[in-house]
Amino acid sequence: MKFSLMVATLFTFALSACGGGNSGSSNSNNQPTITTATDTEIIANVKSSNIDFLPIIYPVNRPAGTWRWPSTPNQHVLVYIPAPASGNATEQDYASKAQNAITQINTKLRNFLVLEPVSAIPVNGNFIQVGYGTSFVPVGSTDYQSYCANVSEGLNLGNVIQPDSQNGIKSNPVYVNLGNGHCDVTQAIVVHEFGHALGLANHFNGFGIGDSTSTAFWDVLATLYGNPQSTTANNLIVRHAAN
Ligand SMILES: [Zn+2]
Repeated sequence: MKFSLMVATLFTFALSACGGGNSGSSNSNNQPTITTATDTEIIANVKSSNIDFLPIIYPVNRPAGTWRWPSTPNQHVLVYIPAPASGNATEQDYASKAQNAITQINTKLRNFLVLEPVSAIPVNGNFIQVGYGTSFVPVGSTDYQSYCANVSEGLNLGNVIQPDSQNGIKSNPVYVNLGNGHCDVTQAIVVHEFGHALGLANHFNGFGIGDSTSTAFWDVLATLYGNPQSTTANNLIVRHAAN
C-alpha cells in the first residue's frame, strides 16, 4: 500500500516535469478551455499540486500550507526575458508569447499577483528567467512535443523548482524553458509553464490533464495567490480569476 502510493507520487511527480505534455493540441487558440472545478475541487487541486509537494532530492523543513512567490501583489514577480538574438524569428516568437502570458496572468489574477517583465537580469531577489530552445528532453527520447517546454532550476535541466524554509521560492532563477528545436511552442504551453513557475508542481484536471490551461487552472492559481502563503487546505478561501 505504502509502496504503491509512493510509485503513484513519483509518477505524478515525473508527469509534472514534462512541461508541454498534452498541452499543445487542445488549446492552441489562446483561449481558456472549459474545464471547470467546484470549490471543493479547487481546494483539492491546490493541495495536490502545491501544498503536498515534497522535494525528493533536497527535502525542505517548511511550515504547513501553501508555498509561493511571497508578498504579492505588492512585491512583483520579476520575469527576465532576454533580448531575442537578432534576426532569430523563433526567439522573437517565444519572447512575444512570454509577454502575452504575463499580460494574461496579470489580467486574470489582478489584485492577487503582478508579474513584471524586465530586460536585464535582476540584481536582488528571486526571479523567473525565460530560456529559448532550452526545454529538457530526456536522454533517448524523441518525443519532442511532449517535452516542448518545462520549468526547472536550469537551462536544459529537468529538476523541479523548490520551496524554501519559509514557504517562499528557493530556486533562483526559476527557468521557463521554451522549445527544443523540434516542437510547436503554443501560447497555451507558455501560459501553462508559468503556472509551474508560480508553484503548481503537479498536473490536475484542466492543467496538463486534458487541457493545458482552463478555468479550473485559473481558479486554482487565484486561490493560491488570493490567500497568504502558508495557508493550510482547511483555511483556504476559494478565489476565482477575473474574466
Ligand atoms: Zn506541465
